[in-house]
Amino acid sequence: MYDVIVVGGGPAGITAALYAARAGKSVLILEKEAFGGQIATSPWVENYPAVNKISGAELADNMFNQAVAHGVQFDMGTAAVKPQGNGFVVSTEYGAFDCKSVVLATGVSHKKLGLPDEQRLAGKGVCYCAVCDGAFYKDKAVCVVGDGNSAVQYALYLSEICAQVTLVTLFDRLFCDKELEQRLRGCERVSWMQRVRVTEIVGDDRVQGLVCRDDDGAVTYLDCDAVFVAIGQQPHNENFAELVSVDEQGYIIAGEDCLTTRKGVFAAGDCRTKSVRQCATAVGDGAVAGIAASAYADTVQ
Ligand SMILES: Cc1cc2nc3c(=O)[nH]c(=O)nc-3n(C[C@H](O)[C@H](O)[C@H](O)COP(=O)(O)OP(=O)(O)OC[C@H]3O[C@@H](n4cnc5c(N)ncnc54)[C@H](O)[C@@H]3O)c2cc1C
Repeated sequence: MYDVIVVGGGPAGITAALYAARAGKSVLILEKEAFGGQIATSPWVENYPAVNKISGAELADNMFNQAVAHGVQFDMGTAAVKPQGNGFVVSTEYGAFDCKSVVLATGVSHKKLGLPDEQRLAGKGVCYCAVCDGAFYKDKAVCVVGDGNSAVQYALYLSEICAQVTLVTLFDRLFCDKELEQRLRGCERVSWMQRVRVTEIVGDDRVQGLVCRDDDGAVTYLDCDAVFVAIGQQPHNENFAELVSVDEQGYIIAGEDCLTTRKGVFAAGDCRTKSVRQCATAVGDGAVAGIAASAYADTVQ
């Protein structure tokens, strides 16, 4: 029986595992796709302390290797968790593992526009996080697609960095806080293109522009160096909705202490209710959850 099983091998999960292993616990991380999580897909990271500039893949490799060096075990598979006796059984398509405590660190994925060249140009001008990637487009022209709080916040944030920001929305209204809308309307560097759908992202090696179409079929071409897609995030907590409480968007309800509604189950990183989803906040959660899960495991006979 493992002391701690961590579900999700992103920054939060790897950090939780590292802390638990260094507390002397036996630890297994289960990952369904690729170790490193979202950050592994980031071309460059410039806001992680102590590292001036590093590719997301290298940062993820460093985290993974550090955890391995401390004795953390890894396995692949999509995990589901059930209480069993005083502990839990964590199953994947490949096997089942018993443990005393669980850390859920399943992250999120950003919703995609679903356009043909979106995936090909991801990281080459197609971005999903303004705080992460905005600085790479200093003094350039960018578009933001979306009409909610995140999209307006992205547009305002980018207006401080970029030469020109165009907010592209499906309707002629915004679905954001009034205060944000007022700020947007007063921001000279942001122009708002309403009632259009983005139908194509144009570019060979990098994004060069967007094709937009209105309800009457009229086409507009927008020159830009990057498009920030802000149409929502999707947590991956379907497998845990009966184990712990989630909010209406599917995020696991947990605070800074990473405690969930189920004793012995902790939530860390982007998958929990929180306001800032970044690498630095994910590893902070990982430390808290790893320590808490280790202490809980000590109480289980
Ligand atoms: C393109 C991009 C660029 C970014 N750039 C930056 C940046 O420059 N700076 C910064 O601070 N942040 C950046 N971020 C955000 C940062 O990557 C995330 O905040 C961080 O990765 C969150 O870590 P996490 O461990 O909570 O979740 P994730 O990184 O999402 O990892 C969760 C992992 O859990 C796995 N998983 C999910 N469900 C299961 C399951 N049931 N069983 C097994 N495994 C499962 C997933 O496959 C995933 O690997 C960027 C994000 C993206 C997408």
